[in-house]
Amino acid sequence: MTARVLVVDDVLHNVKLLEAKLRSEYFDVLTAMNGIDALEIIEKELPDIILLDVMMPGMDGFEVCRRVKANPAIAHIPIIMVTALDQPKDRVTGLEAGADDFLTKPIQDLPLFARVRSLVRLKVLMDELRIRNSTGKAFSGNDNEENSTTIKFEDAKVLLIEDYERVASRIVGYLENTVDTIDHDNVSNGSISTEDLGQYDLFIISLSLREADGLRLCSSIRSTEITRHTPVLILIDEGDNDTLIQAMELGVTDYVTRPIDGNELLARVKSQIRHKRFADYLRGKMKKNMEMAVTDAVTNLYNRHFLDIHLENVFSPENDKQANVSLLMLDIDHFKRINDTYGHASGDEVLEEFSKRISSNIRSIDLAARYGGEEFVVVMPETDASFALFIAERLRRVICDEPFEVSGSEEPIKVEVSIGVAIVSENCDTKEKLFSEADKGLYKAKDSGRNRVCGISCFNE
Ligand code: GH3
Ligand code: MG
Ligand code: MG
Repeated sequence: MTARVLVVDDVLHNVKLLEAKLRSEYFDVLTAMNGIDALEIIEKELPDIILLDVMMPGMDGFEVCRRVKANPAIAHIPIIMVTALDQPKDRVTGLEAGADDFLTKPIQDLPLFARVRSLVRLKVLMDELRIRNSTGKAFSGNDNEENSTTIKFEDAKVLLIEDYERVASRIVGYLENTVDTIDHDNVSNGSISTEDLGQYDLFIISLSLREADGLRLCSSIRSTEITRHTPVLILIDEGDNDTLIQAMELGVTDYVTRPIDGNELLARVKSQIRHKRFADYLRGKMKKNMEMAVTDAVTNLYNRHFLDIHLENVFSPENDKQANVSLLMLDIDHFKRINDTYGHASGDEVLEEFSKRISSNIRSIDLAARYGGEEFVVVMPETDASFALFIAERLRRVICDEPFEVSGSEEPIKVEVSIGVAIVSENCDTKEKLFSEADKGLYKAKDSGRNRVCGISCFNE
């Protein structure tokens, strides 16, 4: 995985050194020697990662970081702050300015590559989520943009796995004010035995456990569906590079070396939680966008667009289950009168209640969609003609047997529906024919007095 890295440092020797190191690992490298130039390059070149020195004359690294994070066009680019070893407070200041990670000078190869790679991986994921969200937004018109700065970490839940009591309680002490709960939990057989692992925002795992193999726990977290996206921070002995490389390859997100620096641990924990929550937020938004794109807002049923795609799949040559697919077309009787008598809002309430009754009287494998204004379609797999007629009749009854309560009328109102039924057969083997058959049935039902079910030529009635 290659990436474009911008190195910002006011000392030429530092720039050259980092440039050489990164090039040797096949990264593309851009350089800047002051804050103003850096901002210009960032806006123009949109690098994948920024390595930013804190101490620079004029505009310092914190200010550059704040400006990047305040500009929506470039705020998504991860920033690694390069801080001096003897200034631990800088890490917290950097985090507050919006930095995503930290490196201390002098920069060692392994931490450099580990951190850059971990952030590149994160950025690839975030970029993908951002692209899908903008597609979803265009598709559904959903534009309730939230802002990454509203992401909170105060009530975060962290699971710490460290079986040396003294170390564990020291870590709890470092994190107490940030995280709500730290559960010490039993680990056995290479997996974590606690309920609801999905509730955690971060796992902190010691790689010096007495009772278990920490790396195996990391691997189990990564391969379990509900924890697949949860960040993992490991505690590892200084200099244990082989294990660190192994852990990074397993997908561990971050690490702190022993002896543990409380400031650094706190800063990293906060940063991991913020990344996790922002990704969760984007994922949630994407899911909502997708749902909005395929569902109808008034009734919550699938929309016509989704129904079309679904029926295309039903009739695709790969589907060998198309025999015995039946289709119901439902049209509310004299719906215009309901609108005219009780008002459009009451009409909407009827549509909503109508949809609820339909949904709760079909199987979960059946699909109900709003086809148009007061027209609905139900597609039922594995349903022969007599069963389809039986279901249609049941749906007709659940609509007309119980009058509808609406806010525009004191008396509940009587609603009736006409239903046309069609089923896939030799003579009815395309989406268009199936629709046309159901439509004929519906027409016949309307024509012969409404509030009834009709299926026509498919059953040679
Ligand atoms: P028929 O028994 O022949 O089906 O008569 P109908 O009155 O139900 O049929 P028609 O097609 O004449 O009228 C449908 C009405 O549905 C007209 C339209 O204003 C109303 N309508 C369509 N969409 C909505 C909606 O989202 N909300 C409400 N309240 N009314 C809608
Ligand atoms: Mg109607
Ligand atoms: Mg109609």
